[in-house]
Amino acid sequence: MITPSQKETTAPRPKGLALEETRALAKDLGEPAYRGDQLFGWLHKTGVQSYDEATNLPKRFRAKLEALGPPTTLALVEFSEAPDGSGKFLFRTESGELVESALIPGEGRATLCVSTQVGCPLDCAFCATGKMGFRANLDAGEILDQYLMASRRLDVPITNVVYMGMGEPLLNYDATVRSLRLLLDERAIGLGRKRVTVSTAGVPPAIDRLADEGVRVKLAISVHSPFEDVRSRIAPVNRKYSLADTLAAAERYARATDTRVTLEYAAIANINDRDEDARALAKIAGRFPSKVNVIPLNPVPELDEALVPSPPERVERFVELLRAKNVDAFVRKTVGREVEAACGQLTTTHNTRHL
Ligand code: SAH
Repeated sequence: MITPSQKETTAPRPKGLALEETRALAKDLGEPAYRGDQLFGWLHKTGVQSYDEATNLPKRFRAKLEALGPPTTLALVEFSEAPDGSGKFLFRTESGELVESALIPGEGRATLCVSTQVGCPLDCAFCATGKMGFRANLDAGEILDQYLMASRRLDVPITNVVYMGMGEPLLNYDATVRSLRLLLDERAIGLGRKRVTVSTAGVPPAIDRLADEGVRVKLAISVHSPFEDVRSRIAPVNRKYSLADTLAAAERYARATDTRVTLEYAAIANINDRDEDARALAKIAGRFPSKVNVIPLNPVPELDEALVPSPPERVERFVELLRAKNVDAFVRKTVGREVEAACGQLTTTHNTRHL
């Protein structure tokens, strides 16, 4: 049985289906199961843009597949590269929505930051995507296509994927998990589980479900304040799911999957960068296997004027206070600001309207 968890209500789109489902689809289309294996590889390993590229598939099979729609529904509109080696991919979906992925270079690695939604319903005070509101969920194929199309465009292999682009992955749960399985599947993309990170603002029931899926990818929690009242002001999701509940789920995740959870922290001057914030955050981090990533707030136009990045010396002190309490804490270097591809800067309303 094929479960059409994707946008199509008639036949499912082959892109984003698991191997077993692709075999079933091949059979439904009158082909032996092994044709499904071939199709699966073309879609998820090679990332074909047209079924004509799938040269070992019989013409009649290709024609039936074409009738279901093109193999890839995203179109690459633009790739902007910054002097620091980072970059931003802009894609258009079939329904005309624009979505972005960011490329973050590193020592011996290249990380792609993928989007799971067009816009985002969570409206964190400091995030550009939130200003767009929620527009659409991406399907698993569209999440994977960001990786596959970026890989084809680049000379270097993409070694790591972080679900830190536009949207809240755990509010688009099925597509997120489906895409994770294919990223990890050696017959598809085949990344190691430690090279894939899902970042969430905190949806505890979905964190628990993810722990049960067996994918065991890394989890990052956007903490941004150890205090419920402050967090509720800057990340309104906290009014629905408290930090306490989110951290309890993060702890269960860490223990169930035997992985360290990353606690993300965008340092905002005088709002979450005081010594008492560092001390309370250290207590949280000490409760379960974790590390803290501090990143100075990235500038976002149209932000509340009260939200200013912490000065570098304040960030340094904050991290030192954490380390003094034996917390593994790092300052994450901001990359991609020049092309507005840094964390929280992805939006397709103001800077891309001309396209
Ligand atoms: N919705 C998910 C993933 C998308 S955002 C989440 O909230 O985790 C990826 C990371 O960028 C999150 O930690 C988010 O809080 C952070 N972020 C958003 N806006 C930012 C900004 N202006 N400066 C720095 N980090 C920001």
